[in-house]
Amino acid sequence: MAINSIDPSTGKTLKKFEELTATQIEEKLQLAADVFRTYRHTPMNERAAKMQRAAEILENDKQALGKMMTAEMGKPIKAAIAEAEKCAWVCRYYAENAQHHLADQVIETNAQKSYVRFEPLGPVLAVMPWNFPFWQVFRFAAPALMAGNVGLLKHASNVPQCALAIEDIFTRAGFPKGAFQTLLIGSDAVEAILNDRRVVAATLTGSEPAGRSVASIAGKQIKKTVLELGGSDPFIVMPSANLDEAVTTGVKARTINNGQSCIAAKRFIVAAEIYDEFERGFVEEMRALKIGDPMEESTDIGPLATPQIVNDLDEQVKRAVASGARVLTGGKKIDRAGNFYEPTVLGDLDVNAPVSCEEIFGPVATLFRASSIDEAIRIANATQFGLGSSAWTNDANEQARFIEELEAGSVFINGMVASDPRLPFGGVKNSGYGRELAEFGIREFVNIKTVWIGNSGERKAETE
Ligand code: NAP
Repeated sequence: MAINSIDPSTGKTLKKFEELTATQIEEKLQLAADVFRTYRHTPMNERAAKMQRAAEILENDKQALGKMMTAEMGKPIKAAIAEAEKCAWVCRYYAENAQHHLADQVIETNAQKSYVRFEPLGPVLAVMPWNFPFWQVFRFAAPALMAGNVGLLKHASNVPQCALAIEDIFTRAGFPKGAFQTLLIGSDAVEAILNDRRVVAATLTGSEPAGRSVASIAGKQIKKTVLELGGSDPFIVMPSANLDEAVTTGVKARTINNGQSCIAAKRFIVAAEIYDEFERGFVEEMRALKIGDPMEESTDIGPLATPQIVNDLDEQVKRAVASGARVLTGGKKIDRAGNFYEPTVLGDLDVNAPVSCEEIFGPVATLFRASSIDEAIRIANATQFGLGSSAWTNDANEQARFIEELEAGSVFINGMVASDPRLPFGGVKNSGYGRELAEFGIREFVNIKTVWIGNSGERKAETE
């Protein structure tokens, strides 16, 4: 079957690739297993030098790489170039810190010496999504390679050019052939790879159904998984917040990446006292966004990645309206070539309507009115997801309650949820488990080996 690269702005096919055959997959798995045997012993400073080189390549080539991302999945070009820069940051972060993260940890016991050693596991399969086609892969690959593992990438089928470019970056950076390989395969080929004894673990960033499938196959094989799944992040605004800042940041947090981010703010829960003012400002700023060709520097919102995403989004908006939501702006597909959808704001959505706690993947915001902090927290937690959360208040008691009570992998007070190589990233509930980034991320795919050394005394000579 072909894997196609299609421009979401025009619907035109850019390139076609053939899926790997079973024989080619077999060769790549064997290469991964072979190279791991030597790569795992590479000194940390050598790995770090290669990772620094990968960072340089990303920075030098950021314009071309940015264009490739925008052409394949439609994110505005400024954001695509910034994504290449962020990948360079995560490479540098792990190049500089992995040695410290994975240094032996001495623990005093009754042994002569006891300590913990962190060892690589082997070839790890990474199943990745298209929405941040470079960042999602690099935030796995940089720590995995620095820890001495090798990577196998099954990228989303709509970003094959990005997938191949990432392998090329690691090759040009000097990593041994096979240390990071892209497998151009469909999702139906994943099960056999997970069942293969040479693949020791898997990480998946993507939707809940994909996560369930990969984790259950890996679970049967007793292989470790990390899951970074969907989100329906709350963005709560309380009366003491700086309202202008909350409105502007809220619009950005909802529409970043054309609204297709797992940690985009998706549900805006606003205190009743300031709700009307927030709604007015928010709708005004959503209307002012510039929709258009994502290759243009001034574009705020480009096309969604695939026609299917537009249809799914439109169906969710229709269901929300059917359950009583008011369309405050937008609400339909844009009548032009490509996968464009109007930036949309829905007010008065019924908290109990199924769509109100689903993940909405596109530039569609839902607003909820909360009569108290208790109600705001209740609405925020009324979802199966638990990825990020953002709460806006200058009241110290309210801040403490949000930090304590929001069911999420992160809480940002007076700020927009964003990933940062220095901070752990991940979710609770159906948003997944495990963590990426920071020290926690690099410890996911290592054998935490306990070493205990006793002293059995001098051996007695046999003949005295
Ligand atoms: P998706 O449909 O789940 O696809 C993600 C990856 O999984 C793709 O490589 C896809 O391959 C593969 N896949 C799909 N079904 C599979 C299965 N049954 N077995 C094995 N592999 C399978 O998700 P998406 O639409 O690309 O991405 C959007 C979702 O990702 C959203 O829910 C978003 O919130 C989530 N996401 C989460 C994070 C996070 O860090 N938590 C970050 C970004 C995105 P094919 O393309 O070949 O189908």
